[in-house]
Amino acid sequence: MLNNRQIYLDHAATTPVDPRVVEAMLPYFTRDYGNPSSTHALGRMASSAVEKARETIAGILNCTPREIVFTSCGTEGDNLALRGAVMAARQAGKGRYVLTARTEHHAVSHTAALLARFEDITVEWLSVDREGRIAPKKLANALCDNTIIVSVMYANNEIGTIQPMAELAALAHEHGALFHTDAVQAAGQLPLDVKALGVDMLAVSAHKFYGPKGAGFLFVRNGVNLIPSQSGGGQENNLRAGTHNVPLIVGMAKALELAHQEFEARTAHYRHLRDRLIAGVIGNIPGASLTGAPGESRLPNHASFVLEGVESNALLMHLDMAGIAASSGSACNTGSPEPSDVLLTLGYEADVALSSLRLTVGRQTTDADVDRMLEVLPSAVQKVRTVREMQSS
Ligand code: PLP
Repeated sequence: MLNNRQIYLDHAATTPVDPRVVEAMLPYFTRDYGNPSSTHALGRMASSAVEKARETIAGILNCTPREIVFTSCGTEGDNLALRGAVMAARQAGKGRYVLTARTEHHAVSHTAALLARFEDITVEWLSVDREGRIAPKKLANALCDNTIIVSVMYANNEIGTIQPMAELAALAHEHGALFHTDAVQAAGQLPLDVKALGVDMLAVSAHKFYGPKGAGFLFVRNGVNLIPSQSGGGQENNLRAGTHNVPLIVGMAKALELAHQEFEARTAHYRHLRDRLIAGVIGNIPGASLTGAPGESRLPNHASFVLEGVESNALLMHLDMAGIAASSGSACNTGSPEPSDVLLTLGYEADVALSSLRLTVGRQTTDADVDRMLEVLPSAVQKVRTVREMQSS
């Protein structure tokens, strides 16, 4: 039976929408389709659905509803945080540094690099250790009173490493800098209490936790001044113009609520399967090693490796043919593979960085799926290594 169905081990890329989430969204496509900005009954009904969703999310984040800004995705939240804070600082004539790391998702690192090109600011790239952690001491040394914003992701999409949020945020605040975190991979797997984390801004994307694609939010602490990236109507407290996507916002809140209610069971399930995958890959594939941090310092659902002498794209093709969806975790394009910025920053040679494999489990992943993966992987690796040896001899 297993061979007849896809084994999906790419939950860091996206997740299926929970049927309970679909059910919550459905009325807002066809029956309660009003525009929340309209004053008539249909509009008021839509507006009340959006505000209820905001309250649900705010309850989980331990913030006020007004501090939640709905966006279309995680990338938009990161852009609004960085661009908004830098432009507000330029307007006030204060500050000129943005501190972040090359291990960030491109939504942050490319945005920071673009800001340096078009605004009068300097990006300082924080160094990370071999497991991708930013040492608080390194951040303390880089901070100065001219730092506008520090942006450090809660957990890394390629290597699963979790950063010491509260400690890093407190250091930023000592220098009067804002602290933003990209929590796109963390949401649904790690606590999101913004007071405990000490962050000023936090970006989330619904499709990573069994919600719909095309919905996200940015937590913006009360008192943080941002210039909007998207201007127009006065929606979202003038921070994000555009008609609300009511069904998707309702679905996102439902998905986050379910993730919150089922947190313990989900994460225990993920950890069990993740640890089996890590032990199985390291134990059975010669030349395999874990990338990122081990144990409690990595995302519960995330296993990532480099496999000496194995070209990722070729391996992923073999796995795909065996009905297994996995990822390299990097921006490899078949034909012109580029080593991942994250692995290069961690100090891996380009050749090794091109041998990455990321396996991310989900709610529907079973022990049998892990067994099948561990059964298929050794021969797939062997085939890829043999072809490479033949090509180089
Ligand atoms: N940040 C991280 C860490 C991610 O993993 C992703 C998506 O994979 C994003 C940002 C972008 O999120 P979205 O696809 O919602 O724009």
